[in-house]
Amino acid sequence: MDDADLALLLKYPLISKALAENAVTYKGTVHVNEEDYEICVTNSNDTNFKLTLPERLTSFEAEVDAVITKEQPKNIITVLDIICTFISTKIPFTEPIDRCEVYRHILHEYSDFTRFYLNIKSCFLAHDLSKVRISTLDQGRREHSFEISANFDDKNVFSVTSYDLPLDKEEFRKSASLKDIYDELLGTIDTFQPFFEVMDEFDRNCWVLDPEEPKRSCGYRRIWIRENFSVIITLNPVDVSRLPEIKLLGPERLVEEYRSNLNSNISEWEPKNGVFSETLKLLGLESFPQKPAVEERVPDLLVNSGDCSICFSSRLNDKLPEVICKNKVCENCYHVECLYEWLMSVNARRFFSDVVGLCPNCEKNITCPIPK
Ligand SMILES: [Zn+2]
Ligand SMILES: [Zn+2]
Repeated sequence: MDDADLALLLKYPLISKALAENAVTYKGTVHVNEEDYEICVTNSNDTNFKLTLPERLTSFEAEVDAVITKEQPKNIITVLDIICTFISTKIPFTEPIDRCEVYRHILHEYSDFTRFYLNIKSCFLAHDLSKVRISTLDQGRREHSFEISANFDDKNVFSVTSYDLPLDKEEFRKSASLKDIYDELLGTIDTFQPFFEVMDEFDRNCWVLDPEEPKRSCGYRRIWIRENFSVIITLNPVDVSRLPEIKLLGPERLVEEYRSNLNSNISEWEPKNGVFSETLKLLGLESFPQKPAVEERVPDLLVNSGDCSICFSSRLNDKLPEVICKNKVCENCYHVECLYEWLMSVNARRFFSDVVGLCPNCEKNITCPIPK
């Protein structure tokens, strides 16, 4: 062993040297920031060093090569130094997280939290500290529940993982503070107060066919108007004062009657007078009919014209059939999904957001919206 080999062994004890015909290969492990990296360097002449880096570093290989070409190291130790410096800058050292500290933090946050707020209805911390379930009352005494999960490996340990609010996408930040998370949730709940109020008014004063048990996040209601006829009213949760989307469901003669009501009343939409009563006015109604008492069982026929003529059932994903054939002698009804699939299987034409084809029952033209 010569001096150079000894120096290599002293500095990089886990790298071994192997001689081949035209090259020397150095192979083994370097230890950087508490982690091991398997590397291989082949030296074919004085300054030609060829590297093979572990998988997690392969994307940097060209960069390291460039540094070595530029600096022209004279020996293997300098090459290994360059590689190690490179690793320590590209993969910075992260302090291992102390679980005990994290658990203590969660417990502290939780006990602080439960003492701090008055509007909390219930609060529960899972035994393994992985979840906090909170239920709270808003200004209108409506209950909202959500789940906050703890990620023990993240500095911002808390994140909202389940809620029932009309948000399109995940909008909550992670945080180390349970209070911050909760305050943000409360702020969001506050912004939806007008929406919740209007939805509650519909639920109290209408016979809601769909959904059977509306969630807070749900922005639509299918409401019974009269035999064989219902409407789907969809509100914008962010701005309930906007004109609601109203879909009329029933045989064509009834749809036409109510459509003409809508067309003549639409210019008088004045949300300041109350979204609920203005929606009634739009439809030309005094009030919405109430659901009959439970004792008088309602025949399904009264609710709408019946089951879907494709799947023969009434509800699909909690929804009643929405498409009704306009042909007066047919008036069969279909779930959007069922009819769409049927029409697509028999070469229906696409027309903007609808498909047009033939009714499976009467074979007259029928239009079906493309399911979302
Ligand atoms: Zn169906
Ligand atoms: Zn038909």
